[in-house]
Amino acid sequence: LGPTICVGEILVEIMATTIGDGFREPIDLIGPFPSGAPAIFISQCARIGGMAAMIGAVGEDDFGRINTERLADDGADISAIAVDLDYPTGSAFVRYRSDGSRDFVYNIATSAAARFGWIGNVEALVSRAGHLHVMGSGLSMQSAVDVIERALPIIRERGGSLSVDPNLRKEITYDADTKKRFRNLIATADLLLPSGEELELAAGIEGEDAAIERLFEMGVKEIALKRGSAGATVFRPGAEPVSAAAFEVEEIDPTGAGDCFGGAYVASRRLGLSVEEALTYANAAGARNVTRRGPMEGAGTREELDRFIAETPRLGG
Ligand code: ATP
Repeated sequence: LGPTICVGEILVEIMATTIGDGFREPIDLIGPFPSGAPAIFISQCARIGGMAAMIGAVGEDDFGRINTERLADDGADISAIAVDLDYPTGSAFVRYRSDGSRDFVYNIATSAAARFGWIGNVEALVSRAGHLHVMGSGLSMQSAVDVIERALPIIRERGGSLSVDPNLRKEITYDADTKKRFRNLIATADLLLPSGEELELAAGIEGEDAAIERLFEMGVKEIALKRGSAGATVFRPGAEPVSAAAFEVEEIDPTGAGDCFGGAYVASRRLGLSVEEALTYANAAGARNVTRRGPMEGAGTREELDRFIAETPRLGG
């Protein structure tokens, strides 16, 4: 039907090489790595062989070029990535604390990442797209909201589908409008990819079973619940849940696991693979990605993921 598209922030990530508390003293940093949850999703989607295209903006600088070149190398359509001549590419500095939590310094709102709109190339792409994937993190960005709200009816009209990764971040505060938009989108999603407490937040009710039932009542047709190193489960109305254990890997950098999981799952389902096969690729993509430093450095091609699946033991299995 056409490519899977994702709208939102394109960033570079620069990360501390030491674990610690914030950025208040000089520390060693590495990067830049191409990043931004929607871009990570599209990278993995394209690498596994799904048609994928990104809508967003970068500055006219090297941080932008490492992103557009990476996505193009992955096989993604970058025709709807604008190059902003006035603002630099967005960035995120990240440092892990010893408890696994992260401190961020973001430069998104006043960067090219948040400044894109409905230009001719976006319209052209949307008019041939078959699927829209929405990241909740983008819903606090007006530019992303505007494009998503214009794109969705066009894609629906074409018979296309919608997936939503709530991707809620504790660092970002969501105003009442954003929460409302999020609930409205969830209610029209074909596929939801929550992790942890996002399932209950999306449903607005406590308890896993109750949340799933509520989401099915709202019209969601498939829920892929990510459980970190405990793997993932897919729920569909009227069908037995399908669970798969995670792969046993050494976690070097957890950032991007959920986005790679989503990219692999959505692309696999759109390529016609079964829930079981898609879940295996998604678990493998998430696990492989945490073994490398940098948010999308571990995204895998179909061949790389096949090899990873053949060589890597499952946790608890
Ligand atoms: P993100 O940090 O990108 O927001 P998320 O919370 O959306 O991630 P997770 O549940 O952390 O998503 O990870 C997605 C998937 O990646 C998991 O379901 C699992 O298959 C895989 N994964 C993540 N972390 C690990 C790990 N340490 N070991 C093995 N697999 C992992």
